[in-house]
Amino acid sequence: MNEQNYPEFTGLELSPRKIDYLKFILEKGGTVKTTEISSVLKVDPSTTTKTLNELAGAGYLNHIPYRGVDLTEMGEAYTQFLIRRHRILSLLLTHYGLSSEEACSEVSRFEAFVSRDAINKICSSMGHPMFGVCGEISHENCLHEEKHH
Ligand SMILES: [Zn+2]
Ligand SMILES: [Zn+2]
Repeated sequence: MNEQNYPEFTGLELSPRKIDYLKFILEKGGTVKTTEISSVLKVDPSTTTKTLNELAGAGYLNHIPYRGVDLTEMGEAYTQFLIRRHRILSLLLTHYGLSSEEACSEVSRFEAFVSRDAINKICSSMGHPMFGVCGEISHENCLHEEKHH
């Protein structure tokens, strides 16, 4: 369940909205009900179902009949990357005058558009920090790539 097993993704595959879904499902853990996702993310149930079907079709989620969805191994590795990207970028902004809260909220608006390659380079240049402003930072793909350059 780590990023190294999925060297091919660029980090630009998903919209900000889909990122919210994956992060919520990872935070929640295990199988998550569609109704819970739609109420927490404040999206109507038919849109939620449609989005979950798209994410399942692309291999990020499994449908568990009558119970909801959970992350596939690929979905979990991808979501770990999404969290790493958020934490690296928000930490970066706190070095340039933003408070933790400001950094988290700014980054939430643009993180979907920053590539994995850029995140790995920023992470390396920051010395692979262990803690971001909203949690620990994992270093799988960024360290792995360094060994090969
Ligand atoms: Zn944050
Ligand atoms: Zn790193």
